[in-house]
Amino acid sequence: MESQNRCSVIIVGAGISGITAAKVLAKNGVEDILILEASDSIGGRLKKHDFGSVSVELGAGWIAGVGGRKSNPVWELAVQTGLRTCFSDYSNARFNIYDRSGEKFPSAVADYTYKKAVASAIQKLGTDQDSLHTAYASDDPRISTKPETPIELAIDFILHDFEMAEVEPIATYVDFGEREFLVADERGYEHLLYKMAEEFLFTSDGKILDNRLKLNTVVRELHHSRDGVTVTTEDGCVYKANYVIVSVSIGVLQSHLISFNPSLPSWKTEAIEKCDVMVYTKIFLKFPYKFWPCGPGKEFFIYAHEKRGYYTFWQHMENAYPGSNILVVTLTNEESKRVESQSDQETMREAMGVLRDMFGTDIPEATDILVPCWYNNRYQRGSYSNYPIYADSQMVENIKAPVGRVFFTGEHTSEKFNGYVHGGYLAGLDTGEALLEEIKAEKERETNNESMLQPLLAITLSKTEAVASLRNYDIHRQLFHSNSKRGLAEVTL
Ligand SMILES: Cc1cc2nc3c(=O)[nH]c(=O)nc-3n(C[C@H](O)[C@H](O)[C@H](O)COP(=O)(O)OP(=O)(O)OC[C@H]3O[C@@H](n4cnc5c(N)ncnc54)[C@H](O)[C@@H]3O)c2cc1C
Repeated sequence: MESQNRCSVIIVGAGISGITAAKVLAKNGVEDILILEASDSIGGRLKKHDFGSVSVELGAGWIAGVGGRKSNPVWELAVQTGLRTCFSDYSNARFNIYDRSGEKFPSAVADYTYKKAVASAIQKLGTDQDSLHTAYASDDPRISTKPETPIELAIDFILHDFEMAEVEPIATYVDFGEREFLVADERGYEHLLYKMAEEFLFTSDGKILDNRLKLNTVVRELHHSRDGVTVTTEDGCVYKANYVIVSVSIGVLQSHLISFNPSLPSWKTEAIEKCDVMVYTKIFLKFPYKFWPCGPGKEFFIYAHEKRGYYTFWQHMENAYPGSNILVVTLTNEESKRVESQSDQETMREAMGVLRDMFGTDIPEATDILVPCWYNNRYQRGSYSNYPIYADSQMVENIKAPVGRVFFTGEHTSEKFNGYVHGGYLAGLDTGEALLEEIKAEKERETNNESMLQPLLAITLSKTEAVASLRNYDIHRQLFHSNSKRGLAEVTL
């Protein structure tokens, strides 16, 4: 089924980057847009879920980078919309490390192991990038001062899968500050996006009723040429536009859910392939009552096991939602994938085993479990991008660069803040503005071409012919434009 009208811009994906880019366009006069979203709601990786009588965040949970010299734009949005947040103090986590017999490691041991691991990580990251690349590729012993004991493995996991998965200094903390706030609001983190959407889409009673947003619409093919783009969806609908913005995750781009016709150039596909995708899974467990320590400095605790990343990082939700009796354990990468492929009952059994190790056999059984599956979600294929440590700026540029009329946005296109909500937001702003510039430039080219066409007609045609041809002016104009665009497009590409 082909849609009647050709619009200016189609935006694929309604996460924070897609909605932000759409807002930039709409607010600047490009209102004939169409947002196609595969799932049944806007938000993407901002996704709340009602669990155990409170609202938990399956995707992004924290506003990271607050209190610094610049203001984090997502924090500003949160303040404007009155989003309820809760300060997270991770600094004590390292003093709450349990071994398999439930003993807490003495503070001095934990502190020493932590500092040693940080020093070693900084030393590794300080190695010059070329030799680091070679070292990684060849298993060089310089970078394999391997953590071996359970406590070393646990701290290594915390440092590399949480705090320092990025090259120091981390732009988010340098620019916006080191504080992190957990979103603890019944309306969810995604509420920020609804408020943003309200500014340019028609809404009523908190629902978006604008037919420029199409939910449950999975884009499968994107045909692009110098003249425009044609987007085909899984349900066989065809939409045409002058431009498209693709805001799907790097995991989706790698998965080939969307086929590009003609194929994307190799500089683009190689950059996409090179980017790592992190899987990060927060598993929520509901209990009839609390049996874990609460109070200052106790929100986060760590389980040290001989298998790296095995139910290592825990958080209780009493600070966010007092009386909720919910624990969250975070798994990443291979452990996330393993858990996604097994039943929730099996995961609950494993998690309960770990909790019994830490807190004894008398603890109550969890009454409910929630295991989000970001990796097996065909509209995500992972949690967020992670540029390889040896990534060069060209790779990042190539991930972001448009290909003709196809523009790219999303957290993975944010050189400084990839992996974060504010990365998605700033990327959306950037792409929206870049496309506005391109639309303006195209209009200017068209105006120039039209003014060149008029004298040409007067010279080459008799009066009667000119009158007749004016009736066909539109056809001429289209032909002329498509030819001139061809020339210009070659320059732009
Ligand atoms: C578990 C988890 C924890 C996180 N924790 C944090 C955190 O604490 N703090 C933080 O700042 N960031 C965090 N992040 C990262 C943050 O959520 C993302 O960086 C950000 O939300 C990405 O926004 P986006 O617009 O780039 O992509 P998305 O939100 O993924 O938007 C892309 C949209 O495209 C849609 N789509 C995909 N394929 C198609 C298709 N074929 N057709 C149509 N639509 C399609 C998707 O459904 C999605 O809605 C976390 C992410 C996860 C998953």
